[in-house]
Amino acid sequence: MPTFVISDKCDGCKGKDKTACMYICPHDLMKLDVEKQKAFNQEPEQCWECFSCVKICPQQAIEARHYADFVPMGAQVIPLRGSDSIMWTVKFRNGNIKRFKFPIRTTAEGSIDPFKGHNAPSMDDLKKPGLFTHNGAGVTMPVPK
Ligand code: SF4
Ligand code: SF4
Repeated sequence: MPTFVISDKCDGCKGKDKTACMYICPHDLMKLDVEKQKAFNQEPEQCWECFSCVKICPQQAIEARHYADFVPMGAQVIPLRGSDSIMWTVKFRNGNIKRFKFPIRTTAEGSIDPFKGHNAPSMDDLKKPGLFTHNGAGVTMPVPK
């Protein structure tokens, strides 16, 4: 079931150019109605239900209806993402609530340098076989014969 935005909760990421849900969606489905400052899923039938937008929304304004085999009718699974962990609240059909907290990273947020240990890419590199991540990492890609 695709995601949907609870418009009362959405604050349009406080008027930023690219909202958190737009940034994270691997399928570019989330869109901001700039006038109303409310986001929406512009093509629900294309949604992969990957939950990325649900997890990243700082207002908990996005929900996805889970499949019945995973979450039977009346039950809910709600993620709340922190900077180093995520809390899943599971509401059972009988009203019971359980919470599970999992760490999501081992480094400080923003501390990763994705280019560390690699040479800066150049246009010439496009003509070579191999991948950027092999550059400078001591791995040589075999050249096709
Ligand atoms: S991330 Fe949440 S608050 Fe921000 S625009 Fe999307 S739905 Fe609204
Ligand atoms: S669940 Fe995944 S694919 Fe669907 S709108 Fe959210 S981020 Fe995009």
